[in-house]
Amino acid sequence: MKNKGIIAIVGGGLAGSECAALIARYGIRADIYEMKPVKFSEAHKSEYLAELVCSNSLKSNDVRSPQGLLKEELRRSGSLIIESADNAFVPAGDSLSVDRELFAKSITERLSSDENIRIIREEVRDFNILTDKYDAVVISTGPLTSPDAAGSLMNIAGGSDFLYFYDAVSPIITYESVDMSKAFFGSRYKKGSGDYINCPLSEEEYRALYNAIISAELVESHIDENLKFFEGCLPAEEIARRGYKSLAFGPFKPVGLGFDRKNMPFAVVQLRAENRERTLYSVVAFQTRMRYGSQEKVLRLIPALKNCEIVRYGQMHRNIYLNSPKVLSENLSLKNNPRIFVAGTLTGVEGYVEAAASGMIAGLSVVSYIKGKDFIPPPDMTAMGLLYRYITGRISVNKEYVPTNINKGLFLHNGAKRYSEKMAEEAIERIEEYRKTFNLKIYC
Ligand SMILES: Cc1cc2nc3c(=O)[nH]c(=O)nc-3n(C[C@H](O)[C@H](O)[C@H](O)COP(=O)(O)OP(=O)(O)OC[C@H]3O[C@@H](n4cnc5c(N)ncnc54)[C@H](O)[C@@H]3O)c2cc1C
Repeated sequence: MKNKGIIAIVGGGLAGSECAALIARYGIRADIYEMKPVKFSEAHKSEYLAELVCSNSLKSNDVRSPQGLLKEELRRSGSLIIESADNAFVPAGDSLSVDRELFAKSITERLSSDENIRIIREEVRDFNILTDKYDAVVISTGPLTSPDAAGSLMNIAGGSDFLYFYDAVSPIITYESVDMSKAFFGSRYKKGSGDYINCPLSEEEYRALYNAIISAELVESHIDENLKFFEGCLPAEEIARRGYKSLAFGPFKPVGLGFDRKNMPFAVVQLRAENRERTLYSVVAFQTRMRYGSQEKVLRLIPALKNCEIVRYGQMHRNIYLNSPKVLSENLSLKNNPRIFVAGTLTGVEGYVEAAASGMIAGLSVVSYIKGKDFIPPPDMTAMGLLYRYITGRISVNKEYVPTNINKGLFLHNGAKRYSEKMAEEAIERIEEYRKTFNLKIYC
């Protein structure tokens, strides 16, 4: 039987809850399918929707920072997640930290008591069954999507090339912060047109770097320890653990860069451009599980990076996400099935608030779809708009598609040299305008 005019949302996490709240605000009915408590992922523990699986911090609330700006944009758009976080706030400097129990409980109660929303506690294993029943389906099952559902999504999206299972990324730094008097452009063995920035190290400097890597504090692993690291993207600390010279003979090797034997540095750390404007560079082969503070300390031991500004930190954890620029249409539906939309970290956004933002954007798109209107995405140079542009491939990414949180780097995609407070002010104005054009109602 077809549930006409009703939308199925699979996964009642941060994205799914925000998406359902948004849809209900337009008077459209939504059924949320949530597998808890029938089945729990390895990280989920509570029966509530919108569970925070790890930290209770939603990161900076300072509106001048990209993280704080994203929250403010959501707040002004009537986000259920941010409103509930504000209400469940616990003091933690400038970050928005919450009482996780209160936070998730209040969201669950709000959604349960909404007349447009029904919560169905059931694991969805095959999305095709739902497309037969509903006008549209939103998949927001998160990075720990149950295996059957992941298989179903993979089949619909187009096969294994479109679903990734790991997230291993290196820190990204601004070009401006690199001391080019201690680095030079060039490609190993003259391949390419001198695309890399090369940062030479003497043996003494390398030893200090090696010791710092070996002794750096690591974040707890989110990776299933039974699954081995891919040899092709080992964390820097894992390579270092294999021996003193393993980095200097491996990814930091000084050869092929035109040095004669006498002047050869002991090691060379390479930086690779992250965007076409070359305002951002990632540190090659530096995917890492080091704590953020340690990453900064370690990288600053490289002479050319003494004052480096990190705009996105390295990270590594198990994570299922789609190759969104390839598989999603402009309105966040699957190219292979325009009635299936995707939201949350499955699209390649990273972080609680980013997941909520993605849920709101997908919700707006589904509402447009149901009303037979074209989807108007959030404007460029707003935090929401930049996340949207990243996942739909409108922001240039030189290498393999990897998840992103909101960060200063995204604001530099159109050639700006640095992120500024003025950008944040303008973004808020744009979001206010957007809210009006979309007639975005505040949740009540
Ligand atoms: C272990 C871990 C720790 C993390 N820690 C942090 C952190 O500290 N800070 C941070 O900002 N981000 C963190 N993240 C990243 C990310 O922000 C969170 O995972 C976030 O909760 C993702 O939001 P989401 O809505 O996409 O998915 P989720 O919030 O995970 O929601 C997905 C929901 O779908 C349900 N579900 C899954 N499969 C099915 C199915 N087949 N049928 C029905 N329901 C299903 C799940 O039970 C869950 O409730 C972490 C991720 C992981 C994996």
